[in-house]
Amino acid sequence: MGALRILMGAGVAALCLGAVAYAAESREAHLKAAADAAGQDLKGVLSICNPRTGARAPAQGNVTVEPVKVFDNLYFLGIANVSAWALTTSDGIIVLDSLDNADEAQTYIEGGLRKLGLDPAQIKYVVITHAHGDHYGGAQYLADKFHARLVMSDIDWKVLEGPRRANYPANWGPIPKRDIAVKDGDKLTLGDTTIELYVTPPHTPGTLSIIMPLKEGNVRHVGGEWGGTAFNFPKTPENFATYAASAERFAGIAREKGVDVPLSNHSSYDNAFQKIAALKARKPGAPNPFVTGPESERRFLTVAAECAKAMEAGGT
Ligand SMILES: [Zn+2]
Repeated sequence: MGALRILMGAGVAALCLGAVAYAAESREAHLKAAADAAGQDLKGVLSICNPRTGARAPAQGNVTVEPVKVFDNLYFLGIANVSAWALTTSDGIIVLDSLDNADEAQTYIEGGLRKLGLDPAQIKYVVITHAHGDHYGGAQYLADKFHARLVMSDIDWKVLEGPRRANYPANWGPIPKRDIAVKDGDKLTLGDTTIELYVTPPHTPGTLSIIMPLKEGNVRHVGGEWGGTAFNFPKTPENFATYAASAERFAGIAREKGVDVPLSNHSSYDNAFQKIAALKARKPGAPNPFVTGPESERRFLTVAAECAKAMEAGGT
């Protein structure tokens, strides 16, 4: 009996060791798949594979950023560490994210549009990708000043209506008042332009990722913005599994919609600054550096999914 118990104990120990070895092997395989997909150009998004750096977008330092036209209907209005975009339509402007606070929205969104020769009074909608203050902090300012309607997922409106987070960052503006609530797959149309909104948790429970039409001259492109990249959520296997499933699902949607312009709300993930520099040096007739093709969108979302799977297998 005693011997049997020892044998059984050894068996359980071997099983546990086997599971640990399997998890480590699986983790290594996912890390390799992520690194392979990242190649040389997607090291920014690959940073989420690293438990020490994965919880926030890599800092970009003290860069001076100017607003810039990226496509005929898309303008970059970001700052060093967080991006806002303006999508122009035949009936006004859709702003994507609102930076940290009213001051930034005033200087870089309102002021940025003016510098570009656009009228901020034409802002009709502000789409907030998710319920973190670096994306919603300037929203109420834009709503109050320009009567812009604020669009966020119903799930994330509820997050903002819940208990205020501990250690609320000092530079985040006020929580905006609930306005338009969208759900997965909803479309938002303004004039001649329709964007599609998909709920892709769990960066926040209701993070929105966006498909948008882009144009340059007679050429049409499709932008795909992954709405929440960093792993700054409770680090449970369930959350990582949800993240991987969201990234894989959005990769399928992006493929179906023909996304050839990967976009992010943090320039460290989509290399927006490098692309803007390349855009400024662009020779007539040369391709737009933001058009990196469907394969780069697929690789971007593969990196995201594989990093999540590595964490799910025991990376934390
Ligand atoms: Zn966030």
